[in-house]
Amino acid sequence: MTQLLELENVKIRFRTKGFVKALLDRDHDPFIEAVCSASMTIGKGETFSLVGESGAGKTTLARSILGLVTPDEGRITFNGKNVLGLNDASFKPIKRDIAMMFQDPVGCLSPRLSVQSIVTEPFNIHGVSIQDTRQKAKELLELVNLPATFLKSYPYQLSGGQARRVGVARALALNPKLIIADEPTAGLDVSVQGEILNLMYRLQQELGISFLVITHNLSVVRHTSDHMAIMYLGRFVETGPTDEIFDNPRHPYTRVLLTSSPEPDPDAPKTRTVLKGEIPSLINRPKGCEFHTRCPEAMDRCRSDAPALRQIGENHYISCFLEE
Ligand code: SF4
Repeated sequence: MTQLLELENVKIRFRTKGFVKALLDRDHDPFIEAVCSASMTIGKGETFSLVGESGAGKTTLARSILGLVTPDEGRITFNGKNVLGLNDASFKPIKRDIAMMFQDPVGCLSPRLSVQSIVTEPFNIHGVSIQDTRQKAKELLELVNLPATFLKSYPYQLSGGQARRVGVARALALNPKLIIADEPTAGLDVSVQGEILNLMYRLQQELGISFLVITHNLSVVRHTSDHMAIMYLGRFVETGPTDEIFDNPRHPYTRVLLTSSPEPDPDAPKTRTVLKGEIPSLINRPKGCEFHTRCPEAMDRCRSDAPALRQIGENHYISCFLEE
């Protein structure tokens, strides 16, 4: 499959103190690592999911692809072009090819704009002229199965599912090659969630769009993704083909996440494992394997040594001593 997006060893650090305060505190390392050496590829027409608890670094990584956060190290290649270090003018055409679906379906739509203005706003932002704004807006709504009667509506008049469809229509405005979907089904009823996932799938088949899905909802991952990565404290702890990971999860964290995900089959065996404790702070990372404070399978060695990310199958990697 032709590659659309490739991330190689992307590291993102954030300063926790101002320069002067760090100097006064004699803090030589006033940074946290929000993303540690992330590598992944998304092929054209493929879906890749980033999974993990809040604070795992999923959104920060996605923001780096949009050029909203600059990685400290690594390389991001989009459509064959290294996009790191580009100035705003050079990055602008790339931004047209990457659209974002934000988490809150209603809250992410400007309350003062009509649906017609919302879905055609990207043309204004990117200085793209269109001859007939109403006709273009109507075509975009058709793509997401909404009738033209919605063009004059305002966000407060829409249900969550309708608002999500408007968000998808807006994302499609400039014919993007990649859509980053942040929790695409959050806040929606279960039946509407299915409709939105089916819509994304249909658009992918018809338009060849790639998706990067950010979610903690594993049923979304299972039904949409070709590949996935599980993140913990900014690190990929397991990454590989979605079917392979769901059928045979190899990292203890992945196993815990999968067993704690709601099981649709009431007759399926109940093997729920509850994760102990809170996710540690990025300021005070555990030594050794950073998951050892919560890992149900931790060994003595895990408290002192850090496992490297190792390949265990085709495109399948994990970082855990259990696989050595
Ligand atoms: Fe658990 Fe040890 Fe594997 Fe880390 S290296 S995930 S603590 S078993």
